[in-house]
Amino acid sequence: MDLFDVVIIGAGPAGSDLGLGLAQAGQRVALVEKDLPGGTCLNRGCIPTKALLHLAEVQENLESLLKEDLSQDSTVLEQRSLMAGEKALSFRDKVVGTQRQGLEAQLKRTKNLSLFRNQGRIIGSHEVRLEESGQLLTGDAIVIAAGSVPSWPPIPGADEDGVYTSDAFLDERADCKVWDFSKITIIGGGVIGAEMADYFHSIGKDVLILEALDSLVPNLDKALGQGLSRAFKKKGIKVEAGARVEEILKRSTGGLGVAYRFSKSDEAFLAESDIVLMATGRRANTAELLDETVGVETDRGKIVTDCFFRSTVPSIYAIGDSRLGSMLLAHEASLDAKRLTKILLSEDDTALPKAPVVPSCVYTTPELAQVGLTEEMCKTAKIAYYTAKATTTANARNLILGGERGFINLVCDPERQVLLGAQLMGPRATDMVDTLALAINEEIRLDRLDAQCHAHPSFSESLGMAVRAAIEKIKVQTTGV
Ligand code: FAD
Ligand code: NAD
Repeated sequence: MDLFDVVIIGAGPAGSDLGLGLAQAGQRVALVEKDLPGGTCLNRGCIPTKALLHLAEVQENLESLLKEDLSQDSTVLEQRSLMAGEKALSFRDKVVGTQRQGLEAQLKRTKNLSLFRNQGRIIGSHEVRLEESGQLLTGDAIVIAAGSVPSWPPIPGADEDGVYTSDAFLDERADCKVWDFSKITIIGGGVIGAEMADYFHSIGKDVLILEALDSLVPNLDKALGQGLSRAFKKKGIKVEAGARVEEILKRSTGGLGVAYRFSKSDEAFLAESDIVLMATGRRANTAELLDETVGVETDRGKIVTDCFFRSTVPSIYAIGDSRLGSMLLAHEASLDAKRLTKILLSEDDTALPKAPVVPSCVYTTPELAQVGLTEEMCKTAKIAYYTAKATTTANARNLILGGERGFINLVCDPERQVLLGAQLMGPRATDMVDTLALAINEEIRLDRLDAQCHAHPSFSESLGMAVRAAIEKIKVQTTGV
């Protein structure tokens, strides 16, 4: 039996960051990973999608040069075919491989940390069994950081050939033949559906998104979903919102038919395509992980925890995508790891590190970002608020890029004159949101934000304009409840 201070299951962002943090502080750590270090994020999530979306953005910029007579149709078409081929996948895999090598090297050279490449199963409140070797690891604490996997509703035909999840397009070990199609139906217009649609479109595929709820990215503020729908439709990506998929049918002529119904009109339609991407959410990866006798409470597979990440068994914790209430984001998984590191190292088991706001970002063109409260959330929670907006369309850097529509919407506290939340659409929204998150966390007053100097020309100048608009607005309007 091997004894450790902490045994962690899963080496995605949650498990790796926790393992490194604890081992660097002198704790003896066992990190158990059944697949590749880096988890979903590095191997079939954040990094491969963003590598491909970088190509999509470059392609879009090249196409915008056509309008200025600075490029030619033939160049754009040639470039598009390069972006769609094996070279694009090699680029994706090079980016992922470089990052994974870096992580593996870091895990290897970290003292006090032992990486076990094996499937772990929790068989007691302090015991983890490695399924392939039968080895038993014992920890004062066990941490579940087992992440999530794709999930889909019980749609008849979901198991037909030609129906894929994002793993088929993003994992370097998947068959490249999956890319040989011209027309795709994407079921689910959440973050994965939107990001994948943008890449497929940029390489010349015919894309239809079917989203059951009434806008794209329905987990975000409505204005962001509507703005993205408009931008997608303008590019030629077809979007049907309020359209619930009911069945997938194999067509005798080849390809697949996707039967969907609009919830408002009850009208039914059939969309035909070569393949289907199922982008309907993810479920916690805990099915094979827990002996029932251990007594860890779960809710649809997610581990129920208290605010200290502790499960119903006091020595067992859960962080990242596997815990109930997670936003399923890599940076939130890393934040959980940072906070649990502090909790496990603290002698005071009532000290809870402060939780900052967590931004949500969508890396489409245009980019979307959101942090803190939306107008809708303030209304529901009866929090006094007012909003102020700046469009980014006339920003000099935006104009140079082609002048697409964009905005920054601020949700402000009329009494304290601080930010409560923000929603952004446009270039660099996913970077600019950090400044606004800092302002929310540190409760920086609007007049202090207004006193900042933004570089010129920069996208951030629009942040200054939004803050100015908020200050001007409070002079004439004091309540939004
Ligand atoms: P994971 O990264 O899923 O890692 C869990 C690890 O545990 C896996 O390696 C798994 O093999 C291992 N494991 C599971 N069970 C066992 C077991 N029994 N024994 C041993 N090992 C086990 N988030 C963002 O913030 N930004 C993005 O841009 C973004 N893009 C995404 C794009 C896609 C297509 C997808 C699918 C997700 C994306 N996400 C993004 C979400 C992000 O990938 C996850 O939130 C993040 O990976 C969660 O980290 P985690 O450590 O909790 O779990
Ligand atoms: P999601 O929950 O964001 O979206 C799934 C969508 O599918 C929902 O909008 C839902 O209404 C729709 N849907 C479900 N059943 C349907 C049906 N029968 N017909 C039509 N539509 C249907 O899930 P996802 O897009 O699979 O992403 C999973 C998670 O991965 C997200 O929660 C996100 O946090 C994470 N992720 C993050 C990023 C990022 O941060 N940029 C990128 C990709 C994924």
